[in-house]
Amino acid sequence: MSLSEFSLIEDYFSKLTPTRQDVSLAIGDDCALLQCPPGKELAVSIDTLVEGVHFFADVAPRALGYKSLAVNLSDLAAMGAEPAWFTLALTLPEQNSDWLRAFTEGLALAAESANIQLVGGDTTRGPLTISIQVHGLVSSGRAMRRDGANIGDRIYVSGTLGDAGAALKKRLENWLPEMLDQSDWQYLQQRLEYPTPRYQLGQQILDYASSAIDISDGLLADLGHILERSHKGAVINVAQLPLSASLKKLPPQISLPLALGSGDDYELCFTMPASNVEALQKLGLDIHCIGEITAGSDLVLEDESGKVMNIDARKGYDHFGS
Ligand SMILES: [Mg+2]
Repeated sequence: MSLSEFSLIEDYFSKLTPTRQDVSLAIGDDCALLQCPPGKELAVSIDTLVEGVHFFADVAPRALGYKSLAVNLSDLAAMGAEPAWFTLALTLPEQNSDWLRAFTEGLALAAESANIQLVGGDTTRGPLTISIQVHGLVSSGRAMRRDGANIGDRIYVSGTLGDAGAALKKRLENWLPEMLDQSDWQYLQQRLEYPTPRYQLGQQILDYASSAIDISDGLLADLGHILERSHKGAVINVAQLPLSASLKKLPPQISLPLALGSGDDYELCFTMPASNVEALQKLGLDIHCIGEITAGSDLVLEDESGKVMNIDARKGYDHFGS
């Protein structure tokens, strides 16, 4: 049964995605055989999504397939790696070829634009659980890490923050503020279900950044990881946080905690020496300077006038929190 289900995935998948030249042998043998080019390092990451913990039981299988891969691509983005190959381990409660077909379509949607090839996998019976391992390529010694931030570096984020968090808040709290209309909710829901992994941006900033991370658990929590690993502090000006048109409709006491604390946006947060700012800005990327790395270990928030705000800046989203 296990074999037939994975064959089904492979069958749907092979029609939907291109194959890569650097795959000597893909699905069907004991191992895949992959060619890592000289001068490159492999960037490897794995992520497991469990029903009821990481996603709702009623999520559309297509969106689930897309997001399962997208969150892994986001980790490659954070290292500046180019997506190459992935493997999939799927635990399914029942045999359902309609579900599998839709799941695979979503998976293929994320895979196709990233030019990443499915090279192996496995299916088992049990509560719905999706594990994906991605492999990316990055020039040896050049990957962006969390431990490279220096005092005076500027802190940047890509895109907009808090959008997925707003959609999640609606779902969890039945929150329906009058300022948001149908088109806002469509946009916010899209941001939650179909996040855009920034792997192209990751490769573009590689020559300029001193450290990077993807924002999966919220800006404060994820920037906190950079600070911890780099043994530095930071000051963030909340007036500089990039907000979507939808979040700008909300009062700051709602939009700011979303932008600072909510996860699932899968934007990049990175640091860069001030001397690189001009060169990077010439590329015209969708990035925004939100603050600066400091000595010490404090993460300080300032309002638009530079006044220090009294917010528990280290409190991010935690899957195992209360
Ligand atoms: Mg990550």
